[in-house]
Amino acid sequence: MRHKLLYWAIIFVCLTSPAMATSRTWELVRVGGLDYVTLDSFCRFYGFAYRKVGGANTYQTQNEDFSVQFYRDSREMKINNVRSWLSFPVVEYRGDWAISRMDLVKHIEPILRPSQIEGKPRQIDGVVIDAGHGGDDQGAVSRLGKNEKAYALDTALRLEKLLKLAGLKVVMTRRTDRFIDLYQRARIATKYAPNYIFVSVHYNSGDSSARGIETYALAPRNAGSTEYGGRVPRNAQYGLPGNRNDALNILLAHEVQQQMRRLNPRDDEADRGVKRARFVVLKQNSLPAVLVECGFLSNRVEARAVNTPQYRQRAAEAMAAGIRNFIARINPEQRASQTTTAVPASKPGAGVPAPVTATPKTEPVGAKTPNPASGAGITPPKPPAANQAVISPVITPPVVTPAPPVVPLSPSTGAPAGVNLRAPEPDIIIYKPESAPPSKTP
Ligand SMILES: [Zn+2]
Repeated sequence: MRHKLLYWAIIFVCLTSPAMATSRTWELVRVGGLDYVTLDSFCRFYGFAYRKVGGANTYQTQNEDFSVQFYRDSREMKINNVRSWLSFPVVEYRGDWAISRMDLVKHIEPILRPSQIEGKPRQIDGVVIDAGHGGDDQGAVSRLGKNEKAYALDTALRLEKLLKLAGLKVVMTRRTDRFIDLYQRARIATKYAPNYIFVSVHYNSGDSSARGIETYALAPRNAGSTEYGGRVPRNAQYGLPGNRNDALNILLAHEVQQQMRRLNPRDDEADRGVKRARFVVLKQNSLPAVLVECGFLSNRVEARAVNTPQYRQRAAEAMAAGIRNFIARINPEQRASQTTTAVPASKPGAGVPAPVTATPKTEPVGAKTPNPASGAGITPPKPPAANQAVISPVITPPVVTPAPPVVPLSPSTGAPAGVNLRAPEPDIIIYKPESAPPSKTP
């Protein structure tokens, strides 16, 4: 009873005090055996002041830096217009909506507050670029020109040049047309931990109407792959090497997809979004890793575009921009020192370029604070006062035992996101596919 009173007292203060725009309380509920957090408390926590349910099925909210859209009973969401696929659907709960705690901790929080990512590298020195397929493994077959392995290598070599120009070191898993085992690719990456990231470059294949760009990050433990409708497979209960970088994986995927989607301007359907999978090069990787599908060779219009060097150059430029933005977001100081110190572009690893479009604000010193929904990789909460409910820092798999419906969480002093990602559309735009939109459901 006492903690219930405290909870309502906190809510009352938040609602009545204009000086305290963000609540320090998250409301945890159980839905279908899973932990969920109500969107009402989610919005208060991140200072999303403007909330609106657009129609009956869309929930849109925004603060100074981010706009977020959820769709009822759907895993689809958008952060700053970048589509991504949650592990579990957003659900309605007692007149409010709720998002799974898994998705809050493993997907949204790292994107909104990268400064809170525990164990992030102080500096990113370089990138392992992995051109997909090679040798006997042709990859996807194009209707025109060459096959996936050749386009992927060409794009990877273009990306290498751009990153080197930007002062980053680059390691290529292959630079010729040869076969390399997937596990071997991940092993190559391991040698460069922890100050490198890993980007695997591919082109896609599907039915002839499928089109657009998608970026994959490893599925978190106890969550399913996007392509399997979010179903959680039995083996998902085991953590994988790549899960150590869950927070960095999803942030990198978001930043890369944000740039890649601009290859198809004003064509929202061609943004197929950030997705989850357990590909070998992602799950066996000890570096923050993503796999980028740069377009469909099975689609006539896209196959024609991919066959042009201009398109592949733009794909490489977009990936490079996403990588640079990722680096700037996890370490604004690395970016800042580069802007004040002249670093010759020819000196690999000497510095990291300013982001292409983002102008991140640095959070105030000492703002690193406990996170009430902590999972592995994110700062665990402070010990609670005796009369406060506490939430375990470990995310548990779905269980059938029902729990009390509403639990006020222990307060966090976390400040909401301080990163401004709003930016003008960059000039990397030449191409718009004309074919029918693919189904939005993966
Ligand atoms: Zn491929």
